[in-house]
Parts: sequence; C-alpha cells; structure tokens
Amino acid sequence: MSFIKSLECSVPCGAGPYNPRERHHLCRCGAPLLVRYDLQAASAWSKDTLRDREPNMWRYGELMPLFDDEQPVTLGEGFTPLIHARALGSRLGLPSLYVKDESLNPTNSFKARGLSAAVTRAFWLGATTLSVPSAGNAGNAMAAYAAHAGLKAKVFMPADVKEPFVRECELYGSDVTLVEGLITDAGRVAAEQGASLGWYDVSTLKEPYRIEGKKTMAYELAEQLDWTLPDWIIYPTGGGTGMVGMWKAFEELEAIGWIPRARRPRMVTVQAAGCAPIVRAYEQGTEKAEPWQDAHTIADGLRVPRAIGDFLILRAIRESGGAAVAASDAEMISGMRELGGSEGISAAPEGGATVAALRALLAAGSVKPEHRVVLFNTGGALKYLDVLRA
Ligand SMILES: *Cc1c(COP(=O)(O)O)cnc(C)c1O
Repeated sequence: MSFIKSLECSVPCGAGPYNPRERHHLCRCGAPLLVRYDLQAASAWSKDTLRDREPNMWRYGELMPLFDDEQPVTLGEGFTPLIHARALGSRLGLPSLYVKDESLNPTNSFKARGLSAAVTRAFWLGATTLSVPSAGNAGNAMAAYAAHAGLKAKVFMPADVKEPFVRECELYGSDVTLVEGLITDAGRVAAEQGASLGWYDVSTLKEPYRIEGKKTMAYELAEQLDWTLPDWIIYPTGGGTGMVGMWKAFEELEAIGWIPRARRPRMVTVQAAGCAPIVRAYEQGTEKAEPWQDAHTIADGLRVPRAIGDFLILRAIRESGGAAVAASDAEMISGMRELGGSEGISAAPEGGATVAALRALLAAGSVKPEHRVVLFNTGGALKYLDVLRA
C-alpha cells in the first residue's frame, strides 16, 4: 500500500540512496535523511479513499513509512481539530484565524506523531531498546509508544525539567536519566551510553521517521480546508521536525496533484527570545545557525540551542516567503491566557508564542486582515501549570 522507495540525504551530498528496510540514522556526511516515495506511482492514489479511513495520521498510508506486511504502533495520534478562533480573531481584526490543536494527541503534544512513526520503524527493524534526549514532550511520547510496542525506553532529560514530564515517563515504564545542562548535553550522554549497547536513537532528525509523522499535520490541514491551504502557518520551532516535515508534505501533495503548485503557505518560525538561533540566522541571512549561548525560556520545547536540521528550517522559511520571530516568556504566558480565555484551548507556552508572533506580524503589516492564518498549538497547558501561578 505504501509507495516508500528510499532514504536520501537532505543536503543532498551525493551519497546514498539508502534502503529503508535497513537501519539508517544519518547520511554518511552527517546530515539528516529524508524518506522518499515513488510519487509518480502515488499519483494514482485517489482522495476518495480517505472517506472510509480511521481518523488518525496513518490514514495517509500510501505516503507513510510502512511496508505491506506491517502494522503501525498507534495510540490514535493525529486528525486533531482545526478550530476556527472567532473570538480571538475578531479581537485581532482577523476573521479567518484557525488553531490546529495538537494538545489533543496522546501524551498531550504533537510529539506523538513523530514518535508513533519512529517507534513503528524501530519495532519492525528489530530494535529492542530505544533512547531519546528530550526537553519533556518527546520523552513522554517515546515512553508511551515504546510501552505500547513492548520495547524498552531510555529517556535523557535536562535536570531542571518540570516534574510532570519525569513522572509521565515513569508511568509508561521508561528509565529516566537527568543530565546537568540542556537537551544537547542530554543527547551527548544518551549517545555515549547507548552506542556500545546498540540502543536505537530517536533524537530529532537523527533518524528519518519522526519527520514522516510530523508531516501529517500538513496533510490534515489541507484535508480539513478541503484541499486548499492557508496564507500563513505560525509554528513554534525547536529542533524543526514540524517545519521541515510540513514543507516536505506540501511538496508531496503537489507532486501527486492533490493541491495546486501555485502557492504554498508562508511558514513562520517562532522561537523564544532567550533561545532564538534560527531567528538570528534568518535575520543575518546565513544558511546555517550558530549555537545559542545561555539558552533560557519557560518553553521547554524551544530550549534547543543547536538544531542539526537548521539549514532545512531556514530553507523552508525563505522558500515560502515566511518569517522568523522571537517571543518573550511573558508574551507566551499572555498568549496561553488568550487562547484559554477566548477559545477554551489549553495551550503550552509554545502555543502561546504563536499568538505573540501573530501580533508582531499584524503590527508589521505582513499579515493582512483578509489572510487565512493557522496557529499551531503544539501541546497542552497541563504540564506547565506552574508558569501560570501569579
Ligand atoms: C518539541 C516541541 C516543539 C518544537 O518542535 P520541533 O518540531 O522539533 O521544532 C514545540 N512545541 C512543543 C510543545 C514541543 O514539545
């Protein structure tokens, strides 16, 4: 059923292609690998088939990394609601404002999509122990999917991570190691411990499949808008799987003829003012991003000082004619309260940041009142309630 074909270097450097039936993490040149499908053959796939399929991200099976004799490791992730934010939109003078509410995924964030795909591949490739460095949500999602698949999970998190993230990993039976420093330090320790033991590393963009889960956000958006696309997508960016995945998804939908080639959405990256390597690189016009020193923010998912896919994120922003915007912690909290108070949406600080970015783009005149805008609320508020204490 799937038209999966190969794994290719994202640069591309000329090495490869690689066989997706084998275990591959990065290209020989050190860059992330992307899953490629036979899009010519996939053009025969009709949208009408979707009508009878389950409302989860595996409904797009033809363009998902799954072979005919396999089943996905799934907890019902995806097909999250696209909410018309009428009250907030009317306050901002933007009648066509929508929120894609990813807090409704298993373990309360969009990380479920990427980890459902990555754990599925790891399972069918015969892995028995999985490891991940995480600021919180990725660890929770990996722990849940590993438990569901009967695999062992090792999660490495910064020592100052909020307690709910640690407890939820433990709830799913995973081992948690707290590491002094940031997610990049946690990644180093995880790699050191796991290398000799053969652990399957599912770090952001260090395996090809989390992107495949995240790209389904764009498939859904197109399906929910009856195969049209918004003018703007505003997305809180840390490691960048979401940005890179959605940009890849538009390319695939165009290639199989499900959306016109004419006009993709402008992609906006929002980062925290205390950790904004992509925003800085965007403003300086560089192809890659320098690591950010002394990263600090309440938005754990955005406390990523260095992203291995920086050049892919920057490419998506620039090719789309988008923007990169930083939001302060105080603005994120206001954004959480606005989404909560005017729409009844439970937003993580990362979701709150999208409201701040929208305000900045409206003030700059980039977003116009007649534009259709989609904010991505990547996670729910429940694990961050402490930041709301007055
Ligand atoms: C991980 C995370 C992000 C950043 O995601 P990327 O797609 O890796 O850039 C944003 N928001 C939340 C809630 C997260 O957990």
